[in-house]
Amino acid sequence: MEKYRAFAARKTADGFSAGFEQRKMEEMPEGEVTVRVAYSSVNYKDGLAATANGKVVAAYPRTLGIDLAGVVVQSSAPRFREGDSVVATGYGLGVSHDGGFAELARLPADWLVPLPESLSPKEAMALGTAGFTAALSLRRLEDNGLRPDRGPVLVTGASGGVGGIAVALLARAGYEVTASTGRASERDYLTRLGATDVIDRAALAPEKPSPLLKQRFAAAIDPVGGEGLRHVLGSLQYGGSAAVSGMAGGGEWQASVFPFILRGVNLLGIDSVACPMETRLELWRAMADEWKPAGLLTDIAQEIGFDELPERLADILRGTIRGRTVVRIG
Ligand code: NDP
Repeated sequence: MEKYRAFAARKTADGFSAGFEQRKMEEMPEGEVTVRVAYSSVNYKDGLAATANGKVVAAYPRTLGIDLAGVVVQSSAPRFREGDSVVATGYGLGVSHDGGFAELARLPADWLVPLPESLSPKEAMALGTAGFTAALSLRRLEDNGLRPDRGPVLVTGASGGVGGIAVALLARAGYEVTASTGRASERDYLTRLGATDVIDRAALAPEKPSPLLKQRFAAAIDPVGGEGLRHVLGSLQYGGSAAVSGMAGGGEWQASVFPFILRGVNLLGIDSVACPMETRLELWRAMADEWKPAGLLTDIAQEIGFDELPERLADILRGTIRGRTVVRIG
């Protein structure tokens, strides 16, 4: 194979382009392991990367796709052999290194996780960066003392990727879950995932602005951020924590010290990109086993063909996709 099909972004004379092309094998990046990609997935960051002003791609041309799962076809690293099933998320994938929207990918062995036996490549991509981020959020909350008997856990952006998997993981781990959404039409879906309560995203905002609200939640998983984070922090119980991973609702909020100094609330930052390998191995193992969400392929994820990718990338920025999108590549 001298060329392989990829979805790539380029700077052009007119400005910017993102589309399918045949990329040359000789232009592949450095890396010890070459993977035949079976599935990738669509994340919010991929949507941004496919736009001219997304500010996530470090240099062009770039094959996009921050996630991939597939089979090793060549390896000079002792940890991996031809035929091994692997998954990779984050690091420089699809940002500073060619990513998963391609028939072939070459990457450093240190970025690869051996796929646990009880997880197929398609299931791994149904989880993808979004699922991994939800799992990392739950792990950090538990590391900070969260247990199912402490009370309900709030999940914002629950109809989206991180939010939907967070609802399912929490339910699987025995937590009472309150799902916050801007889409009343997704109530049944969120209940099927395991939410015990579904609230409108506007419901957390008090009539009169205040940093301290009724103490409702033991913890929160928040991929939405923005002004809503003020209400999330204000609604936590004494000693509760919010795991903040995203900015689907904005990058800034009006902060107040009072939830921290009067209620001992914790703000936990979640970064899936540079997360250490030891934690990755542990979380992929958990997601393949005791945390594996029910309904992952039937309810949460939808499969699309490679050709349908451009439309989906636009949709995720509009906030109209429910759950996760798996892209069939190979
Ligand atoms: P999705 O688009 O799948 O989900 C985002 C959800 O947020 C939407 O479905 C919607 O849920 C809600 N939402 C969208 N727009 C708004 C708005 N204006 N105000 C309030 N809520 C809104 O994206 P992902 O789940 O893939 O990613 C979510 C965020 O997390 C992104 O900002 C992404 O960049 C970030 N992220 C960060 C990671 C990290 O390592 N820190 C890793 C992965 C993602 P609903 O309709 O139910 O309200």
